[in-house]
Amino acid sequence: MCPSGLSVSAGVGPTAAVMRAAHPLSDLAAAATDAATTTTIAESDFPSDPDDEPLYAARKKIYPQRVSGTFRRLKWALLVITLGIYYFLPFVRWDRGPNAPNQAVLIDFPARRFYFFFIEIWPQEVYYLTGLLIIAAMALFLMNAVAGRLWCGYLCPQTVWTDLFITVERWIEGDRREHLLRDQQPWGLDRATRAAAKHFCWLMIAWWTGGAWVLYFGDAPTLVRELATLTAPPVAYGFIGLLTFTTYALAGWMREQVCVYMCPWPRIQAALTDEYALNVCYRHDRGEPRASLKKAAALHEHGQAAGDCIDCRQCVYVCPTGVDIRNGPNLGCIQCGLCIDACDAVMAKVGRAPRLIAYDTDLNIRARQHGGQTSYQFVRMRTLLYAAIIAVVGGVMAYALATRHAQALTIIHDRNPLFVRLSDGAIRNGYAVHIANKNRETQSFVLKVTGLAGADVETFGSDKSAEGQPVITVGPDQTRQVRVIVTTRQLLEPNASIPLTFSIVTANGQVGATAGDRFVGP
Ligand code: SF4
Ligand code: SF4
Repeated sequence: MCPSGLSVSAGVGPTAAVMRAAHPLSDLAAAATDAATTTTIAESDFPSDPDDEPLYAARKKIYPQRVSGTFRRLKWALLVITLGIYYFLPFVRWDRGPNAPNQAVLIDFPARRFYFFFIEIWPQEVYYLTGLLIIAAMALFLMNAVAGRLWCGYLCPQTVWTDLFITVERWIEGDRREHLLRDQQPWGLDRATRAAAKHFCWLMIAWWTGGAWVLYFGDAPTLVRELATLTAPPVAYGFIGLLTFTTYALAGWMREQVCVYMCPWPRIQAALTDEYALNVCYRHDRGEPRASLKKAAALHEHGQAAGDCIDCRQCVYVCPTGVDIRNGPNLGCIQCGLCIDACDAVMAKVGRAPRLIAYDTDLNIRARQHGGQTSYQFVRMRTLLYAAIIAVVGGVMAYALATRHAQALTIIHDRNPLFVRLSDGAIRNGYAVHIANKNRETQSFVLKVTGLAGADVETFGSDKSAEGQPVITVGPDQTRQVRVIVTTRQLLEPNASIPLTFSIVTANGQVGATAGDRFVGP
């Protein structure tokens, strides 16, 4: 830090030179030296040194004020819908017939299956997850291109749970002013009781959040019974504990800090947005120069202009992240629209037009400032591209789902040795054959190998058909691996590599699945 006053004398050449080189503020010192007089410079005369700025600003506790209006109602509706889905979806049943769980959404790790209503995903179909992630990313980009941080403001779990925790806090501790005043009082019975009640409620919500999460990994009613009777698997209690802690910490204590410091999306979003995207903004052209009603009246008396903003700070008081939107775009603004509701209420009270704070585009803000026409352009190259990617990936996934087979066949050739020459001169190749039966009933398949005339096909541990072909039986919703040996007594070309086709044929003569491999010779 600089000393509070700095004395610089004329004619101290070397000392002054060292000072110029060593101190980043040497320009001011030089100016003082050049004046050839002895000058006293106060610390406030120096520009602030960025190196002296603290790297971390201590958090100021935020007391968001209650607000009502269009965006608040929209947020209530989305909060009820999203939390309702999260907490109650595990209890929704879906009849898949015998030999299958009847929970609509289930991640069944022991059986290695993911169930989503009528869809059942096997581990080898994990590419559906890739498709879902692409669609999710594109949907986020599309939302951003149309209306900024819609996800952050209305749908992100951090926003939804924080909103719920703030609501509980308000019920117990009172609205902003009451809560602020109480926090400035010394601890007493009332303050301690309210704080204890609030943390108890937060912990209950957090515990139920963790509890609901584990219900997606087992039969929900059974798991609830087991959890209540302390007979559930230890891992379930572990995950409930972990999620209880994270929910309580993130939504109760950290809140806007997660959005400002931890989440990468605000940075990505800032890079993706453009001048056509709707964002919550303060209409400077209309609001400035801001002035209280009294000051505005005085200004008008003197023939001076005053903006519509009466500087009441209601937009700041209701903000869950403590942002003053009048200062322009801000990383901390999750674009929840609550400041729009607050300002609209103020405008209504003072008899001015609503939407001094509103969703608007950068282009329109500039147009207004220059007295031009405003317009909205939602259909543009960027939004079309995102929508097209969603449509294509979604279409491919839907087609793949609609045409997927109830059986799957995978062939893996033995790697070492690639072939074996028998004592009678015959050549033998070995394969691991994997058959998946996605039906709810046991099925028997005839295994056929074509491409090498006269070859013998043998399996181990399976029956034979009347024609002597291997018959492999696979249980319902199961996979089975068998070892298959293909032997030929034909004379092969040197380094022969002959394409083979493996197929499994159902009892009614339909080809269930086919797969290709090669027969390798010496
Ligand atoms: S500035 Fe307005 S839109 Fe942004 S987070 Fe605060 S209340 Fe929500
Ligand atoms: S609520 Fe509206 S009028 Fe009040 S300070 Fe905010 S922008 Fe200005």
